[in-house]
Amino acid sequence: MIAIVLFGKPGAGKGTQAEFLKGKYNLTHISTGDVFRYNIKNGTDLGTQAKAFIDKGQLVPDSITINMLADEVAKNMDKAGFLFDGFPRTIAQAEALEKLLTEKGIKFVGTVGLEADDEVLVARILERGKTSGRADDQDEEKIRNRYREYNENTAPLIKFYEDRGVFTAVNGIGSIEEITGRLSNVIDTLI
Ligand code: ADP
Repeated sequence: MIAIVLFGKPGAGKGTQAEFLKGKYNLTHISTGDVFRYNIKNGTDLGTQAKAFIDKGQLVPDSITINMLADEVAKNMDKAGFLFDGFPRTIAQAEALEKLLTEKGIKFVGTVGLEADDEVLVARILERGKTSGRADDQDEEKIRNRYREYNENTAPLIKFYEDRGVFTAVNGIGSIEEITGRLSNVIDTLI
């Protein structure tokens, strides 16, 4: 089995692209944001814990997120591998992921980063907020806080993966199909 990390700022299009890529490469798509929202909707303990952070545009603590991710991986060992979206978002999560993949015998093939300008992304998220029903998409201050979290905690992962020779950046501006094409070209060289 293989694992690919789809990396990018909030609103970069990770979820949209993952929908195409998971079918193409027979991967289980794990979006930590989606798993949290599913738990919030269903009123689980995990959902209640996560909601307090998500609603403020803050990251959910590593311990909660890492345990959840490990459970999702254990439940989905039936495909050719995993496409992670929204995980890792901190160095501690990236280290936990390395350990987990080693334990499970899953080969980490690379991180593909979708790049786009902050102002384009904030506008996209506000637009998405009109229909997504997500509280964290509707308030510009919460959105800005997600970018602060990204810059502080998540951006250092680019160097983390570059140092390991497993980071490839892809231009995230263009049509959905164009970007799927760019990502597929990179993934084809990784697997
Ligand atoms: P976006 O990429 O637009 O921010 P996500 O659905 O990926 O949307 O994430 C929504 C929220 O869920 C984040 O703002 C954060 O609060 C929480 N979250 C998602 N993934 C993680 C993670 N790996 N670590 C901590 N918090 C996370």
